[in-house]
Amino acid sequence: MGFQKILLQGAEYEFAIEIIGRTIFMFLLILIVLRLSGRRGVRQLTLFEVAIILGLGSAAGDPMFQEDIPVIYSIIVLLSVVVLYKVITFAASHSKLVTRLMEGKEMIIVKDGTFNIEGSKASSFSQQEFFSELRNHSVEHLGQVRLALLEVDGTISILRYDKEHIKYGLPLFPTHYKKINPLEREGPYACMFCGNVKQHVSEEELPCPRCKKQDWAIALNTVYH
Ligand SMILES: [Zn+2]
Repeated sequence: MGFQKILLQGAEYEFAIEIIGRTIFMFLLILIVLRLSGRRGVRQLTLFEVAIILGLGSAAGDPMFQEDIPVIYSIIVLLSVVVLYKVITFAASHSKLVTRLMEGKEMIIVKDGTFNIEGSKASSFSQQEFFSELRNHSVEHLGQVRLALLEVDGTISILRYDKEHIKYGLPLFPTHYKKINPLEREGPYACMFCGNVKQHVSEEELPCPRCKKQDWAIALNTVYH
């Protein structure tokens, strides 16, 4: 009972040995299938590719240890998935609509030094998840960024302003991303939600004219190195 039952219930010695052989076989098979798919490696995956990988993984994993699944079924699944992958990839290379359905569309995150909140519902817009991405690209504040795109594979592409054109912008590192009271400190200020920059903020103007949020940080205009 107990632990031993969970671990060993119904296990057969011969099949345990067979599992080793099945695992090696399926492992080699999935390597061959991935080579057939034509991908060079995995860095960032689109949702479509994640779906393909999940399908391959399940088909390859189950027959490793399930006695009643003949390996040939698994081979049929793997080959079907590869054919599907090839067909959809071919269709996507010939049709923008198919590409968009399969992989979504790239998204503008930063435009002219502020977060792009138009088009995306302000409530679902989560700028925090982009902070670390932009920091990884050595962006200190949004005033350095002319355009930033979120690509369909989850990576970020950035176009920067020339050094002479860098503006005041919202700081992205925690050392400067701090809420201040704009009535007590000198500006310019940057809205902590949308990155909107204002030179002066009076009591009536406290909510950001762009997004209506009320939190302000001191804006930076440092040049990157
Ligand atoms: Zn704002």
